[in-house]
Amino acid sequence: MNLNNVSRCEYCARIIYKNVSGTYKLCSLKCKNYFKKNKSNDELEEFLLQNISKGWNEINVIFSTVNNIDKFEFISAIGRMVHFDKTLNTKSKNEISMRSFISKVKK
Ligand SMILES: [Zn+2]
Repeated sequence: MNLNNVSRCEYCARIIYKNVSGTYKLCSLKCKNYFKKNKSNDELEEFLLQNISKGWNEINVIFSTVNNIDKFEFISAIGRMVHFDKTLNTKSKNEISMRSFISKVKK
């Protein structure tokens, strides 16, 4: 399986096993609800790009520095930045979790 060509959820960026939406690619009803509320979160993406220090950062640790952000929204934004925007890298090829390490993609 070529991991670069698989379908990913447009909200959480995880691999889709079953699409629950006709119009978009969404993996679950949870993602469908979040996607309706906030398709993308530019402020959060901006925050991440500005606040991730050099080298590898554990997502848990970055999350502990933000206030009032839903954990699922947070990790989904990171997923989209890794898989769609390619502005972040992950250390492991596994799906992103709170214990994954991320770094900024060098321009
Ligand atoms: Zn999803």
